[in-house]
Amino acid sequence: MAKLTIKDLDLNGKKVLIRVDFNVPLKDKTVADDMRIKAALPTIKYVLDNGGSVILMSHLGRPKGEVLEELRMNPVAKRLSGLLGIKVRKLDNCIGDDVKSRTGSMSPGEVVLLENLRFHSEEKSNDEQFAKQLAELADIYINDAFGTCHREHASMVGVPKYLKAAAGFLVQKEIESFQKIITDPEKPYVAILGGAKVSDKIELIENLFDKVNKILIGGGMAYTFLKAKGYDIGNSILEEDKIDLALSLLEKSKEKNVEILLPVDHIIADEFSESANVKQIDDISIPEGWAGLDIGAKTIDNFKEALADAKTIVWNGPVGIFEMKPFKKGTTEIANYIAGLDAMTVIGGGDTAAAVIALGLKEKMSHVSTGGGASLMFLEGKSLPGIEALTEKQSTD
Ligand code: AMP
Repeated sequence: MAKLTIKDLDLNGKKVLIRVDFNVPLKDKTVADDMRIKAALPTIKYVLDNGGSVILMSHLGRPKGEVLEELRMNPVAKRLSGLLGIKVRKLDNCIGDDVKSRTGSMSPGEVVLLENLRFHSEEKSNDEQFAKQLAELADIYINDAFGTCHREHASMVGVPKYLKAAAGFLVQKEIESFQKIITDPEKPYVAILGGAKVSDKIELIENLFDKVNKILIGGGMAYTFLKAKGYDIGNSILEEDKIDLALSLLEKSKEKNVEILLPVDHIIADEFSESANVKQIDDISIPEGWAGLDIGAKTIDNFKEALADAKTIVWNGPVGIFEMKPFKKGTTEIANYIAGLDAMTVIGGGDTAAAVIALGLKEKMSHVSTGGGASLMFLEGKSLPGIEALTEKQSTD
């Protein structure tokens, strides 16, 4: 990759400002899930092991530029201290004289965590002065917050203007995995798309047309396509204003020689709830009063057959309402199936990653992204502001 990465840096005696994604769920003032904290440990430990001191910064929740007691980073610092086995000092702000003097006196091996960046509205507005004040705390900047790389926020794109800026291990792995499937995917290349809406995935589908051999469409978005093809879809989720677009995407797929597979049967329910009446139907059309909430058995077989010889698979969006037990079979079966294939498997962040992790299949995939919006943007063929902002390798080394 053309961007500077953590291993290119001389960290000895340096103060290293690391943008991490510690936007973790909290419950009763403690961290309810520390996956994101654990994910940042390799980068933090590497800096410490190589003689640097670490200043961590992250956002947490949506305080909208105000100080909210319940969104302070204290529980995160506590958990991180436990995981690292050393004291992590949490500061009461992320900029200002006190922060400057406390970080100024740090010795190698020390770790501090700055207060929630989004207590300042300047973080989201990418305020230049705010970025400058953050940058002044350190000698080097590392971005290890892939989940925020699609955002033009001060800590993502402003700070790297003032410091040598490199990708941490987490971001490096994300970039390498996505670059591989964008620039040099081994064929056959199959995309699995699901999730609620077509409207969120239009640019993705159009970009995939030039790269993939097949697109398997499940989830809520499939129903706008089925409606466009003239089938009855009952109460299934429909974007009425996207029917024409769905038709034109189907046409375009033929021009591009990309096979699109849609559901041929469904798990239907009489309401969007776990306690609904549920049944499998062997028909493409869905009766009035019922909604398709998961792909059916024949569709699962069709999808598996289409995936059998794939060498590259990218998956964005569950093929059913995975969060509800009666509608999780399609997503579960597809996840288990691709986990056993000899293929490069890249799982988009957000709901799809959550499903794969909940099924205990993370280690069986080539890459499970930590960023929903960021991975989608990558797959749409766009460059990510947070990655663009990093220092080019040749300009410094
Ligand atoms: P997205 O953020 O667009 O990837 O959407 C993910 C959401 O789509 C998940 O919360 C799923 O429960 C939901 N979803 C998947 N299949 C369906 C379906 N058939 N009908 C409605 N929602 C669905």
